Amino acid sequence: MTRLLAVVAASVCLTSCGSPPPADLVLLNGRVYTVDAAQPWAEAVAVSGDRIVAVGTTAEIRRLRGEGTRTIELGGAFVSPGFNDAHVHIDGTGALLVGVNLLDVHEPAAFTERVAGAAARLPKGSWITRGDWGAYEQWSAGSSGRAGTTGGADQPFTPDRSLIDGVTPDHPVLVNRFDRSVFLANSRALELAGITERTRAPAGGEIARDASGRLTGILKGSAVDLVRTVIPPVPFEQRLVQVRAVLQEAREGGVTTMQDLTSAAQLMAYQELKKRGELTARIMLRPTLDNVEHTAALGLSRGFGDGWLKFVGYKAWVDGIMGSSGAMFFEPYDHDPTNKGLVRTIMFPEGKEGAALSMTAAQHYTDFPPGNLEKLIERAVETGIPPHIHAIGDKGNRIILDLYQKILTEHGMIDSDHRWRVIHAQVAHPDDFERFGRLHLVAEVNPYHVSDDMRWMEERIGAERSKGAYAFRTLKDAGAVLIFGSDSPGTNAARYYLSPVYGLYAAVTRQTLTGEPAEGWFPGQRLTIEEAIEAYTKGPAWASFEEDLKGTVSVGRLADLAVFDTNLVEVGQSSPVDLLKAKVLYTIVGGRVVFAGT
Ligand SMILES: [Zn+2]
Repeated sequence: MTRLLAVVAASVCLTSCGSPPPADLVLLNGRVYTVDAAQPWAEAVAVSGDRIVAVGTTAEIRRLRGEGTRTIELGGAFVSPGFNDAHVHIDGTGALLVGVNLLDVHEPAAFTERVAGAAARLPKGSWITRGDWGAYEQWSAGSSGRAGTTGGADQPFTPDRSLIDGVTPDHPVLVNRFDRSVFLANSRALELAGITERTRAPAGGEIARDASGRLTGILKGSAVDLVRTVIPPVPFEQRLVQVRAVLQEAREGGVTTMQDLTSAAQLMAYQELKKRGELTARIMLRPTLDNVEHTAALGLSRGFGDGWLKFVGYKAWVDGIMGSSGAMFFEPYDHDPTNKGLVRTIMFPEGKEGAALSMTAAQHYTDFPPGNLEKLIERAVETGIPPHIHAIGDKGNRIILDLYQKILTEHGMIDSDHRWRVIHAQVAHPDDFERFGRLHLVAEVNPYHVSDDMRWMEERIGAERSKGAYAFRTLKDAGAVLIFGSDSPGTNAARYYLSPVYGLYAAVTRQTLTGEPAEGWFPGQRLTIEEAIEAYTKGPAWASFEEDLKGTVSVGRLADLAVFDTNLVEVGQSSPVDLLKAKVLYTIVGGRVVFAGT
C-alpha cells in the first residue's frame, strides 16, 4: 500500500482535491530495503523536493509521475537508506586522497611512484607529508595473524631521499613510517629547514648520514621538528580540493551523511562548499570537547545548523590507539611487557597525577579526584550537546564508563534521552559490558577494524582479552545502541575506506578481506546483515537525534538513498564475500542524484 505524505496530500486537496502533485523523481522496479519495520520491503519510491513522499509498489508509484518527473528504472537494483558514516576524519581522508598514501608500500620503486603521483596532483610548492609507509610490511594485508608474521623482512624498509628527489623538484616532502619512528625529508625540505651536512642533531634527535657523510634525508626524534616548524598551514584552496575528494569517495560509496571530527579550518571549508552548492553529503559536526567554553559562551546547542551542516557532539579522547599500542589496558601488552598504553593530553591535568596509569582492574577512575576530562564533560552537559568520547583499551573504556556513570547520575540523566557515545568501545573488560546498557550508551564502533586489526590483535593483547574486542554482539545484548563508522582514512597503520560494504562484510563475517579465518574471528560476535545495515543507517541517524529526518526509506524522511547493483541483504545472508563486489549505481541526497555509476 502506498503511504503518502499526509501533509502534501492535504495541502493539495485545498486546490485540486483528489490527486497529489506529481513527484520530481521516482525510482521504479527495485528491491527497496527500507529499514522501516512497518514496511521492510518495497518496489518503488517517489520523491518531491528533498523528501520521500511515497514508498510502495511500482504500480502505485508510477501513478505519481507527471510531466516533469524524472524516472529511474531500477531493473531490480537494491535501494537502501543512504549510508550514514558515524565516524569520519574528513580532514585526514582528504589529505590522504590528495596527498600520498604509502601504507602498503615497503619497497623502493613503489615508494618513488606514489610520491611522484602526489607531486602531480598537488600544486607546485605545496608540501607532501605523512604517507605512513610500511604498515603492511610485517603483517601483509588479508593476514589473520594466525600463522605469525608474514612477509616481514629482517631490516625494515628505510628509504633514501635519492628515491624521491628526482620526482619532487618543486615539492618539499616530509613523510614518515607508519609508527613515526622514522621520517624522510627530500632535498627541498632539508634546504627549507636549513639542514646541511654540518647541522648537528638537537638533543633527542638524529639526522642520518651515509658512510660518506652525505644526508640520507632520514630524520628521527626531535630532529623532525627542524622541518616541521617550516611547514605552513594547508592553504584554504587546497582544503577545498581535499574535501571535494572526500565527498567524491562518499558519493561513490553510497554515503549520504558523514559524522566528522571537525576543526575550525575544516568548518570554514564546508561552509564555503555549501555556499557553492558543492556539498553532496551532509556533514555532522563534532568539534573537540576542549572548545566547550567557546561554544557554551556562544549559546550553541545540540542540532545547531541545518540539514547539511549540524552540530551533533563533542569529540574527546581517553587513550591512544591499538595501531601504535597506545590504547590503555589494565595489564601490559603481550608483545611489549612494560607498556600499558597512554593517556591523551585532553585528560590532563588528572585529579591525581598518573591516576589513569596507576589504576588497577579492581579500581574505578572516579575513586580519584576529578581531572580535566570530567570537568569538560560537566561543562558539556550545560550546553545540551552530547559527549562522544574515544576509548579503546579495557582501561580506557573503564575510565569513560566511570565518568559517564558519575556525571549522568549526578545530573539525574541516566534514564533521560541523552544518547551519549563511547567512540570505538574497542576492547572492554568483561565486568564493564553491562554498563553500556545500564547507562543507555551509544557504542560508535568501526566494524572494518576487525578485518584489518586481527593481523596483530592476539599477538598484542592475547586471546583472553581479544574476547572483549569488537564485541558487537555482547555490546548489543548488553543494551548498547550500535552505530557504525568507517574511521576513514584509517590509523597510521591501516587504510579504512568510506564505502560501507567493507564494514558490512566485516560485521557479518569477522573475516579478513581474503576470508580468514574460515569460521570468523570470535564468530559469536557476528551480526546479521540486517543488524549491520541498521547500524549504518537508522542507528547513526538516531544517535544524532535525526531519526525523524533520515535513516529509513519512509514517507516524510529526507530523500537520501543509495542504490546498489547487488541485493546487500540477500548476499549478506547467503554469500557475504559478494558484499565486497557490490557497486553503487546511484547516490541520491536530498532528492538530487549526486552520483550515477556505470
Ligand atoms: Zn577516528
